[in-house]
Formats: sequence, C-alpha cells, structure tokens
Amino acid sequence: MLPTEEAHDLLDLTRELAARELAGKVDDFEQRGEFPREVIRTLGRAGLLGLPYPEADGGAAQPYEVYLQVLETLAGTWLAVAEAVSVHTLACYPVYAHGTERQRKLLPDLLGGEMLGAYCLSEPAGGSDAAALTTRAVRDGDDWVVTGVKAWITHAGHADFYNVFARTGGPGPTGISCLFADAATPGLQPQKPERVMGLRSSAPAQIVFDAARLDADRLVGEEGGGFRIAMEALDAGRLGIAACAVGLAQAAVDHAVAYAKEREQFGRPIAAFQGVGFMLADMATQVSAARALLLHAARLKDAGRPFSVEAAKAKLFATDAAMRVTTDAVQVLGGYGYVSEYPVERMMRDAKITQLYEGTQQVQRMIVARQLLRRAGVSRPSR
Ligand SMILES: Cc1cc2nc3c(=O)[nH]c(=O)nc-3n(C[C@H](O)[C@H](O)[C@H](O)COP(=O)(O)OP(=O)(O)OC[C@H]3O[C@@H](n4cnc5c(N)ncnc54)[C@H](O)[C@@H]3O)c2cc1C
Repeated sequence: MLPTEEAHDLLDLTRELAARELAGKVDDFEQRGEFPREVIRTLGRAGLLGLPYPEADGGAAQPYEVYLQVLETLAGTWLAVAEAVSVHTLACYPVYAHGTERQRKLLPDLLGGEMLGAYCLSEPAGGSDAAALTTRAVRDGDDWVVTGVKAWITHAGHADFYNVFARTGGPGPTGISCLFADAATPGLQPQKPERVMGLRSSAPAQIVFDAARLDADRLVGEEGGGFRIAMEALDAGRLGIAACAVGLAQAAVDHAVAYAKEREQFGRPIAAFQGVGFMLADMATQVSAARALLLHAARLKDAGRPFSVEAAKAKLFATDAAMRVTTDAVQVLGGYGYVSEYPVERMMRDAKITQLYEGTQQVQRMIVARQLLRRAGVSRPSR
C-alpha cells in the first residue's frame, strides 16, 4: 500500500532498476566478493540515495514508509545493494540533522549519490557496548587528531566520507563526539576486507586511524554529543535493516513457492503435500507480520511521533523472520536449496547478518525491555 502516485512511480522505477541493473550481476559479484560501486552510483543517479531527506537538501522528500519499500524491493534481488543504500542513508544523518551550515553545504553531493558514506561506531573490543569505545580524538591547535581502530565498517575502502565516533572527553556516552572525515584524510587507513559468511559483495573491514588529522570544523554537533547522534541515526537505520530483511524473506517465499509448484515427488508437485503447503503458509505469514510491524514503526516516524522502540521490535521480528523463512526456503528446495545454482542458499547466508548489525537481537530486546520496565516504574529487578 503506497500513499501517493509518485510513490507508485518510484516503486516501478525501483523494480525496473532491480531487474535491469541488479538481477544479472548479483551472483557474479557475490561469488567474486567485489563491491558493486558502479551499481550504487547508478542508483544514486536515479535518485535512490537520498530518498527520505528534504528536496531542499538534495533529497527526494519521500516518507520513510516509501523509502523502506524501495529498500525491500532492492533487497529481494541483492541484499548487499539494499544494505548499501540503507547504510549510506544512515551515514548522511549526522550532517543532515546536526551539521553546521558549512557542513550542510555538502548535502547535495551526499544525498545526490555522488559520494558514498560510512558509519564508524563499532570497535574490535566492542559493538554492543558502543558507549565504551576507545578511539580518541584530541585537540591539537586547530585540528582534531584521531587515533584508534574501528571494526566491521561497511563501505570501508569504498566510501568517500566516514562518520567517526571518537572519545573527546571522559568515560561513558557523554565523552563521545562525532567527526566527519574525508576518505583521503592522511592516517585514515582501511584494512583488508573480512572473510564473511554472506553479503560477500560488501564485506566490512577495519579502519585504522593513525593520528588522522581533521580540521576543527569537522566536529558534527556538539562536543560530547556524538553518542546521542549515533543512537538517533541507528533508530532510523534499524528500520532500513528490517526492510532489507523483509525484502529478502519475501524473495525466499517467492522462490520456494515457484519451486514447490514445479518440483514433483510421488507423482505430484510437492506444493500439493500439506507438509510443504503449511511450511509455505507459515513463511508467508512471518513476512506479512514483519512488514506490518515495519510499516507501523515507519508511519510513527513519518508522523513525527516516538518510534525507536517500535523500530527495535520491527528489526527484532523482521530479521528473525528472515532467518527462519530463508532456512525454510532451503528446506523446500531440498538438496537443491543447498547449492549456489539456486538463490535461496545465498539468501540464508545473507539473512544471518541482519540479526547482528545495527544492534544484535539481544540489544533490540534490551531496548524493548527497558521501555517496558520504565513504564512499569521499575528501575532495578524486584525480588
Ligand atoms: C557485515 C557486518 C557489517 C557491519 N557494519 C558496521 C558498520 O558499518 N559500522 C559499525 O559501526 N559497525 C558495523 N558492524 C558491527 C556490528 O554492528 C557489531 O558486530 C554488532 O553491534 C555486535 O557487536 P560485536 O560484534 O562486538 O558483538 P558483542 O557486542 O561482543 O556481542 C557478542 C554477543 O553478546 C551479546 N551481548 C552483548 N551484550 C549483551 C547484553 N548486555 N545482554 C545480552 N547479550 C549481550 C550480543 O547480542 C552477541 O550475541 C558490522 C558487522 C558486520 C558483521
């Protein structure tokens, strides 16, 4: 269900781009583990890299619910590409929402798709406890000097700009600031890509900051305000990951249904066996429920209402659904589900990452539980 004619046209365009620019390339790029930078550029030129931002800043002023359906459509064909759009959209948030006038002048390039962004929060010693990060930024005259290691950075080595969350003060969240770094900054050193289970065309890598020097005006928002910016960005980013999970799961259902109608055993299509039909029905139900949670959270955001807990619920449910549904899709295809000639094998490997990044399933539960306990007036466990 889409709110406007314009949104219908946008979804048509996305389907066309997915068929023309993504479908024929995904297997090759995934097998070679090559990042599809040109494909992302093509999507940027088609206007897909700044969808939920205002037109005045170079975006397309689309409601979040529409942007998420674009992601869902892309993810059904190629998760790594949909994830790239989602991560880039997240990476534009700090400058959009907290940037100085001068920084915001970059927005047309950021949102127009010419520049690709990355978001550097996690570190080797911790992702879930992000407020404990140890990368340091120290003032030296008019500069910030950044030293430390960021881990698992999507678009490392491909991005044109990096949001870096670094410690500029004491321990805890209020000692963290957000800095905006160009890829060409001396001392900003992307490392070798990780060898990953899935999402192989967009493997993350560490970034070493070896006394990387940034102008003082690269501080985004207030000194000490970086953790809040990081969490705001993640609230919306989680909806993006949930949309990717829904798109992936929907594609797995579609492949499983098509296969079950064709494949015969015992003289009948396997879809005619109740055991298979029930599995397909459960898969489709999981996807519908995930999509409903996602759209509910997106509509809260579009209405300017609090949405962060609903976003956590949507990510928790949608990514569990993607894992379950893609695993069941492999089951429906039997042995053929286990080989790379059929896309469900890749989908099952890809699904796992959605349960891990932008907050693991346990972190989403912490967000939901905290709100439940706050509402109940409980600040510590009762006996
Ligand atoms: C492919 C990929 C891409 C990524 N891209 C980015 C990126 O672009 N930018 C970025 O900053 N990061 C990125 N990440 C990092 C990702 O966000 C982290 O891996 C994730 O947040 C988990 O952190 P961790 O790996 O350090 O696990 P840990 O935090 O060490 O967690 C290990 C396990 O302990 C559980 N756990 C931790 N604390 C608790 C608790 N209090 N209660 C219950 N369970 C708990 C976790 O849920 C998990 O199961 C990416 C990771 C991957 C794999």
